[in-house]
Amino acid sequence: MNISIIGTGYVGLVSGACFASLGHHVVCVDVDKEKVDKINNSVSPIYEKGLDALLQEYKDNIEATTSYEKAVQNSDITFICVGTPSLENGDIDLSFVDQATKAVASELKKKDGFHSVVVKSTVVPGTTEHHVIPLLEKVSGKKAGKDFGVGMNPEFLREGVAVDDFLHPDRVVNGYVDDRTRKMLAELYADFSCPIVETSVTVAEMIKYASNCFLAAKISFINEIGNFCKHLGIDVYDVADGMGLDKRIKRSFLNAGIGWGGSCFPKDTKALRAWADKEGISSDMIDSTIKTNDKQPTQLVKILKKHIPNLKDKTIGVLGLAFKPDTDDIRDSRSIPLVDTLVKEGVTVKAFDPKAMDNFKKLFSDISYCDSAKQVLDADAVIIATAWEEFEQLDFSGKLVIDGRRMLKIKESAKEYEGVCW
Ligand code: NAD
Repeated sequence: MNISIIGTGYVGLVSGACFASLGHHVVCVDVDKEKVDKINNSVSPIYEKGLDALLQEYKDNIEATTSYEKAVQNSDITFICVGTPSLENGDIDLSFVDQATKAVASELKKKDGFHSVVVKSTVVPGTTEHHVIPLLEKVSGKKAGKDFGVGMNPEFLREGVAVDDFLHPDRVVNGYVDDRTRKMLAELYADFSCPIVETSVTVAEMIKYASNCFLAAKISFINEIGNFCKHLGIDVYDVADGMGLDKRIKRSFLNAGIGWGGSCFPKDTKALRAWADKEGISSDMIDSTIKTNDKQPTQLVKILKKHIPNLKDKTIGVLGLAFKPDTDDIRDSRSIPLVDTLVKEGVTVKAFDPKAMDNFKKLFSDISYCDSAKQVLDADAVIIATAWEEFEQLDFSGKLVIDGRRMLKIKESAKEYEGVCW
């Protein structure tokens, strides 16, 4: 099939490269000329395991351009994969989706043959039906479902393992408005061995939000149980192992710690809450999920204060600033509220992260950044905030360590060790 992809970020480029590897011809569009040039030289503009190899191996099947005309006129189906970042009020910013939709619709206006437009960006339930379709119809002067097709195909990949997640998903969700789009999507995913869910565009949108909000809620739940366990002097991981044997519960996403961050869970939970708020519907579960997550990093400080009641003028080392290991991404990293709380307590913070310090400096310019993890150890206590493997190799002898990420090896060398929920 001839496919066009709008937006060459994590979702767009990974989808494009994977479709190319399945034998389709893919044209990627981005407004960023530098990204376009890189892709045309078979170099990925983002770091994602296996992506460069796919771009090189299937270079005859994939090209990039800044021209919507070239992409839409030479393809049968267009996937909109642009970003949907959070606005101040938690709502998603649809401006990139709007720009892409209008540009695609201008091409639909000129095109004779049938073409389908599929939203892959994460958009709140109702967006494709009540926002994207009216915009496509207005600009193209054509009718959705009759003159052109519409679908919604949410993406569930995780950064770091995105290629593998795309090619081997647990399920594919194909929302559609018209039968021709349903058939095109079914053909595209025909060789996937997972279940394919065919449904309406609004159900597809809600499946994406409900999945992410559920996973966020599962983590917040075990973190709350973890705080109970800490109070009781028991290990929440023993509890999680016992719970996880129940097939209805399963063990995954029961790893208690200092909470979730990154580009998806915070944005998606806030967006669904903001949508519910606007619709006048209560969102108590999602509210609590977010509230529990916001409070969890401060549990570390509570535990720290058991050992050092007055933190003023003490030096506390923070190991890890990225929201998870193996990335420089600090979006909604739990280290942000943690460092903020420490600074407000009058602490001198010494921090280190193998990749994320430059990004963190933009938020906290006044704390002290170390050249190595070892330098952080010269402090009154050390907090583990991100589970970078290299932290386990350090010698913590004589140190008080408060661990937010279950790095049990550290316990062996530390003088005193406490986990946030164990
Ligand atoms: P991203 O910010 O990495 O990439 C978006 C790309 O779109 C950028 O390259 C940008 O230059 C380009 N762009 C912006 N406006 C454009 C326009 N008008 N025309 C052409 N290109 C344009 O975003 P991402 O992480 O790939 O996320 C895309 C969507 O997928 C979001 O809705 C996100 O929530 C969702 N999603 C992301 C992930 C993830 O792990 N990153 C997983 C599942 C779903």
